[in-house]
Amino acid sequence: MAIDFEAVIGLEVHAQLLTRTKAFCSCSTSFGDPPNTNVCPVCLGLPGALPVLNREAVRMGIRAAHALECAVHARSVFARKNYFYPDLPKGYQISQFDQPLATDGRLRVQAYDQKGKLVIDREVRIQRVHMEEDAGKNVHGFGGMSVVDLNRAGTPLIEIVGEPDLRSSEEAAEYLRQLRTLLMSLRICDGNMEQGSFRCDVNVSVRARGEERLGTRTEIKNVNSFRFVQRAIDYEVARQKAVLASGGQVVQETRGWDDKEGKTVSQRSKEEAHDYRYFPEPDLPPLVLEPAWIEQERGALPELPAAMRDRWMRSWGLTSHAAGVLTSHPGIAAFFERAVERGAEPLKAANFVLSEVLRDAHTDGLDARLPIGPEQLARLLAIVEDGTISGKQAKEVYAAMVGTSQTPDEVVAARGMKQLSDAGAIEQVCARVIAANARQAAAYRSGKTALLGYFVGLVMKETRGSASPKLVNETLARLLGP
Ligand SMILES: [Zn+2]
Repeated sequence: MAIDFEAVIGLEVHAQLLTRTKAFCSCSTSFGDPPNTNVCPVCLGLPGALPVLNREAVRMGIRAAHALECAVHARSVFARKNYFYPDLPKGYQISQFDQPLATDGRLRVQAYDQKGKLVIDREVRIQRVHMEEDAGKNVHGFGGMSVVDLNRAGTPLIEIVGEPDLRSSEEAAEYLRQLRTLLMSLRICDGNMEQGSFRCDVNVSVRARGEERLGTRTEIKNVNSFRFVQRAIDYEVARQKAVLASGGQVVQETRGWDDKEGKTVSQRSKEEAHDYRYFPEPDLPPLVLEPAWIEQERGALPELPAAMRDRWMRSWGLTSHAAGVLTSHPGIAAFFERAVERGAEPLKAANFVLSEVLRDAHTDGLDARLPIGPEQLARLLAIVEDGTISGKQAKEVYAAMVGTSQTPDEVVAARGMKQLSDAGAIEQVCARVIAANARQAAAYRSGKTALLGYFVGLVMKETRGSASPKLVNETLARLLGP
């Protein structure tokens, strides 16, 4: 009998904090500058240079920890994580080891499908959140040489270590998506995966379903896209199942994801992988936080995406799908919320944003470029509501407004687009359409009332979509009626 295996997945996320300067020196953290221009004796690890902790980085770490419902510790300790790699000029990374900033949190991950069915509902325990610094970056391929750019060395990071509570690649990808959105909504990380400011290590093992003990795990390092995470996990789970099913044993090791080949490949075995030696960092005192400051940062948290999603569903009646999409980026969420504040009816606004506006929206890190402003959207929906233009005309007005500051009223005036709501004029068109379709009119009168839609369509076509659909429906029903 085949064994029923289950996947056990845990993620360690590294998130670059959006401070202006590095974690322990005043060098700039800006991305894309010429190599090795944002460096100094501290981040180069020159002898005698002393690190000074960036208070803003700590503040961001505290906020992340609060948002993940962790216990934030008034005292934590920095440690040196020693390893040799060319992108690490000091020969060690300043991190936290046995006394991290925060521990024992959780993130509840929920996702709905298009029909509103809850398809993922998983609580991931957060083991710890700690502060550390990033390494530099090796750049390969200069006529066969590799060079190192140390601009990134010393950039502040938080590492968020999740317990192995995830059970599928879909859950893992969703957890990452929601964690990324959460950090972005706190404005502490730009979430840019391509540039490496949000990346993760994936721990994967499999075990027979019902078994309590964890199987031997492998670690896939530095995966930087949702798609890679999902593919790498699927591959690794299948590989481990096959090993176990054939009576073999999974080897504990670090593996890399090769996207071209579509597989994970062995990089380092266990003996080499975990020989980090940690020492207390002698140049930095323990990080002691005023309890009042910790509480103050808790109070300063914005409404978190999950709470916002639930509020929009509960108070405004948005579908779970719409609320999920609209809260997936803080810039889009802010746009939608502002449109509603300006008077837009939430359900109509959500429909219009999902069907039209998002198609033209662009996000880049924390920035969201929306094609129109929230006032333009609110006013557009208002003039549909009061009958000035039809819903169909609204799409035309929207398209004309994209990228401009024109108001809907200006577009309507410039194009002479007012909705045809003159009862007499509409009645004339309706009568003409009925006369030209006598056979269908007779069928309608003999009981095929579903044909009303056919007549409405013809009238709307005749008026190029400018007739008030409500008035057309009423008029046709009256003229065709007994
Ligand atoms: Zn520096």
